[in-house]
Amino acid sequence: MMKNLIKQIKHILGINNAQAQQISEPSLLEKYVQFSQAPADWQNHVGLAPFLHEDFKNDVQVIIHEGSYKNSKKYPELLWVRLLATYENYFIGELLDMPQYLNTIQKGDELLFSTHPNAQYPFLVSETYMLEREQWHISPCNACGFNELFDMPADLMAQQTKNSSFTTHCAFCGGLQSVQHLAI
Ligand SMILES: [Zn+2]
Repeated sequence: MMKNLIKQIKHILGINNAQAQQISEPSLLEKYVQFSQAPADWQNHVGLAPFLHEDFKNDVQVIIHEGSYKNSKKYPELLWVRLLATYENYFIGELLDMPQYLNTIQKGDELLFSTHPNAQYPFLVSETYMLEREQWHISPCNACGFNELFDMPADLMAQQTKNSSFTTHCAFCGGLQSVQHLAI
């Protein structure tokens, strides 16, 4: 099992100690020390259980991506991940498959992912995205209700001509989501 969860999580998130200290409080990173490594906690997780392998209850199919196709020019891939830990709606697992097209992610990598009631599958997230996410309102997709993005909101905003809001396409179904920057 994991020898040093915090160290591993920092590695997964791709951040060093100095960056970790700059993360606003309370940080998800701090909560990660509370990640449970007890299989019962993901096997009985309401949002995750439906996606677990029928016979191998520690394995789950997750949408792995490097951003939306529009931005990354790479299609997300549905790959098997073996669960290692969970906290609330977040999960850490080891990638069991080698991606076909994504080249920054490899078999054996430990990844952070989440679930959403309207998502067709669990999906890869990053701490950077989740921190930035707090500054935005993303309306649920008009077709499926999914209200997360595979891209950084600020990256999408930079491609827009308007200043505070824009419309984008749902990563799962291609429906419309409107994204608005919250006043700080
Ligand atoms: Zn959708």
